[in-house]
Amino acid sequence: MTTITKIETIRVALPFETGGPRHGMRPALGAWLKMESVMLRIETSDGLEGWGEAFGHVMAPGAEVVLNTVVAPLLLGKDAREISKRIDEIERPMHGLGRAGPMMYALSAVDIALWDLAGKRAGMPVFRLLGGDGGELTRYASLMRYGGDCDAVAENVARARGHGFTTIKLHENTVPAFRAARQAVNPEDNICLDVNCPWTVAEARAIAQEILYDDFHWLEEPVWPPEDYAAMAEVRAEGVPISAGENMTILVDFKAAFEAGAVDNVQPSVIKCGGISGMRRVFALAQAYAVRVVPHCFYWGPGYHATAHLAASRPEPTLVETAFITFAVRPHALFDSTASTLQLTEAPGLGFEADWDALAPYVVSRNTVSA
Ligand SMILES: [Mg+2]
Repeated sequence: MTTITKIETIRVALPFETGGPRHGMRPALGAWLKMESVMLRIETSDGLEGWGEAFGHVMAPGAEVVLNTVVAPLLLGKDAREISKRIDEIERPMHGLGRAGPMMYALSAVDIALWDLAGKRAGMPVFRLLGGDGGELTRYASLMRYGGDCDAVAENVARARGHGFTTIKLHENTVPAFRAARQAVNPEDNICLDVNCPWTVAEARAIAQEILYDDFHWLEEPVWPPEDYAAMAEVRAEGVPISAGENMTILVDFKAAFEAGAVDNVQPSVIKCGGISGMRRVFALAQAYAVRVVPHCFYWGPGYHATAHLAASRPEPTLVETAFITFAVRPHALFDSTASTLQLTEAPGLGFEADWDALAPYVVSRNTVSA
């Protein structure tokens, strides 16, 4: 038996620069100046530690409290090797407390940490446990929102291209900003448009018609509300490839989206949809519906590593989203927003080795629950 003896959560708020004017991803949230992350650290009786991450950002305090007060007591003293059983015995009793949001984010963190432990116990990287090869990957640059400032968009798209990124994503929602990005790079480079659910179907269809011949790689989450997959399918019928999935958490959400014909690309988020186990279920389902997988990964913690290992486990080239921002300190060796490729090492588990000395000034809170 490999008993879970100690559970720690660490909340970090890491300031960053964007290379342009500061805005929130959602205008109502104000300028986004720090990335909030919730890390989970599980210790076991055989002397190992496993790292996981729950979706954070403005919901970081929610995921943190769920981990500390609801989830940790259910894990202590249990066998860390039985991943699916550990998740199931939390997920079932808690099913009425939110099938999206902090509960699912917390479960995702646990799953990731248990897989990290599994790799360390086996003495091999998680991507090898998952049957992957080599661990060499391509990143795509995910730009911050510059609030429609076309000069800042063009400048930062060109800067990303200068670092070698050939797939670059905007978080703008105006056609002039889209076109400023398109014109800032070569025709063969991919420009993706993430608009974060702003429009009615009619508005989204009109935009899709307007940009149909501008050769954008995808249009992401075009309609409000995000769960209206029939509406998304109507927009998709205009001919612009559609991406979504970061707001889907349980498998039946993904199935509903695929059944509706809503997406060309699905973007499951490992720290929201059930960790590495949840992602593998989505991968299998996406294969059954012939939907391309492009994971969501707008974070830097163990969830970033988990995404990379999952991408490396796939037979198809799978992009790793990387926030195109400069943090106050570099959190660890793997996160590099100036490198368009990524090479996982043969380190056992996820290989998450943060520079905690450098991160210390940005730790918001730390909590330990032990047996
Ligand atoms: Mg998005």
